[in-house]
Amino acid sequence: MKQHSAFEYVRMGQSQFFRLPVADLAKQDETAYAGADAVVMGVPHDGNVTYQPGAKLAPFHVRRVSALIEPFHPTHRIDVFGTLKTLDGGNIMFPPFDREAVRNIIQGEVGRVVAAGARPVLVGGDHSLTLPALRAVTARRGPVAVVHIDAHSDTSGPETWGDAFHHGTPFRHALSEGLIDAGHLYQIGLRAPWSTPEDGAFSESHNARIFDMETVMDDGIRAVMKTIRDAIGDRPTYISFDVDACDPSFAPGTGTPVPGGLSSREALAVMRGLAGVDVVGVDVVEVSPPLDHADMTVNLAAFLAYEGLALMALAKKPA
Ligand code: MN
Ligand code: MN
Repeated sequence: MKQHSAFEYVRMGQSQFFRLPVADLAKQDETAYAGADAVVMGVPHDGNVTYQPGAKLAPFHVRRVSALIEPFHPTHRIDVFGTLKTLDGGNIMFPPFDREAVRNIIQGEVGRVVAAGARPVLVGGDHSLTLPALRAVTARRGPVAVVHIDAHSDTSGPETWGDAFHHGTPFRHALSEGLIDAGHLYQIGLRAPWSTPEDGAFSESHNARIFDMETVMDDGIRAVMKTIRDAIGDRPTYISFDVDACDPSFAPGTGTPVPGGLSSREALAVMRGLAGVDVVGVDVVEVSPPLDHADMTVNLAAFLAYEGLALMALAKKPA
């Protein structure tokens, strides 16, 4: 299980995520991922978006641009893929017309990754994938801390769009289902306007810690991340990064952009600021290549996934 060199990638002309070896996809159970510490998978589905689609194409484009990211992390000083045995798990496949079936199949496939003793890194797809992913991770580990980076709180109820399950609802369900360790939902970058005054109340009523863009501007991203890292301690932690947390000038390729967000530098600082945390799963969602310019957003998404893998590598590395 060895990452190809950049030279070998260009020679082959085909791109897995980060030039990684591919899981044994002929196997229908967790043995497909045997021996892996982490599995990077695409979730090519955007049937849950409320505005502009396109996120279903992100896994293909993130693979392409991830293929020339080198393994050695410049600030953590760790060989990410030399340390962390990582596979490209392919794309999760489902009939895209049945959203409940999509959720169940995502939960099953992420469950197989976890059953193999590996940690999932999911490239969406729209943000609805986080609910089945969290269900799968917590089914084995119990409730986890969640770091959620987003312009939106994603805690809408069914009244907003007449549907209880879409890309604006995963954290409402995760809180209601007890998937999140009580008091350990950390939401960073929120700034989108609310449909009602109560929109902001749901997370708060579950004791979420909210670091909206005003707080990020006042305190600075490094201070915010130190507060979060200290509060998480040694809890197993899932990171869910909606790329619309970033300002549209840095991440134009997304379906529901909101002005006034994180810079790409701050986005990387969010991930790097979680060094030392026991990261048990990561997703990067809402990247819509048809809306992108010059690969800005897919490139950022590839680097965010790399940063997530770097955190897993750091947690594995013997002290
Ligand atoms: Mn969002
Ligand atoms: Mn979201």
